Amino acid sequence: MDKSIDEIYQEAHDALVGVSDLEALEAINVRYLGRKGRLTAFLRNIASLPPEQRAEAGKKANIAKKKLEAAIKDHGERLKAGVEKREEGIDVSLPGRPLTPGALHPITRITREICDIFERMGFSIAEGPEVELDYYNFEALNVPKYHPARDMQDTFYVSDNIVLRTQTSPMQIRVMEKQSPPVAVIAPGKVYRCDSDLTHTPMFHQVEGLLVDDQVSFADLKGTLTAFVHAMFDAQTSLRFRPSFFPFTEPSAEVDILCVMCRGKGCRVCSHSGWLEILGSGMVHPNVFRSVGYDTTQYSGFAFGMGVERIAMLKYGIDDIRKFFNNDLRFLRQF
Ligand SMILES: [Zn+2]
Repeated sequence: MDKSIDEIYQEAHDALVGVSDLEALEAINVRYLGRKGRLTAFLRNIASLPPEQRAEAGKKANIAKKKLEAAIKDHGERLKAGVEKREEGIDVSLPGRPLTPGALHPITRITREICDIFERMGFSIAEGPEVELDYYNFEALNVPKYHPARDMQDTFYVSDNIVLRTQTSPMQIRVMEKQSPPVAVIAPGKVYRCDSDLTHTPMFHQVEGLLVDDQVSFADLKGTLTAFVHAMFDAQTSLRFRPSFFPFTEPSAEVDILCVMCRGKGCRVCSHSGWLEILGSGMVHPNVFRSVGYDTTQYSGFAFGMGVERIAMLKYGIDDIRKFFNNDLRFLRQF
């Protein structure tokens, strides 16, 4: 006898593991327990052992035989149950479907990062409707009907008085109507404009900011936005404030940052100017305060708005805004 009963039993037991049909199971049954089976042969050979070993070997072999018979029977019953399930339409032998873990969209990531930075400065977050009354989107923000400034934005009109908001600025009015100063809010969200090319999409994301209190000055605006840019990019990113016009702020300024790609040397991204425009800002126009009943002799404030896609493109070095919304997994998996 060249193999011990323990080895034969272990071998048979291992062979059972991968068996998935009754035919293969019967083959194992024959190979070990059949008339010419290996375990049967072992039992037959016991007679040739020295007399003092026979009893012990016989006992072990019989235990192994019973255990193997039980294991084969048990396995057979499980296979039969599986066949029945399959006939019912449930294939228990099919491998499970792997779950693919999801991840945050780059725009969501950047929006959260912007919100985090301002929350650390004491701003709270406000959200509002994307289908907005003309009053909140324009009139209360010092843009009456037929005002030429309406041409600055290509508006989707739902009806004469209802628009898809073209900016997150309506949230300024909605917040100030409900709350007396001090106010420090940022409002992230989707906005809509009838525009589409390399740097514009009909739907994009903005973050609006508003701070109102006693004696808020332009210096506060500069300090707040400088702190934001340094936190978002790095402390070496310098800013420049350019005079501009928005109907709801006076004075108004557009804010440029030193080109994050070329550090001011001039490149394709910054059109060789060394600067990149990233947001619009200004001191809240007294007419806006009047529309919500704030005392313009007591309070002043600043507001700003930025495009989230613009910040994400600069931060990740992406040259086509439409890539964010094509849902190409090869692009999205990079973040
Ligand atoms: Zn550049």
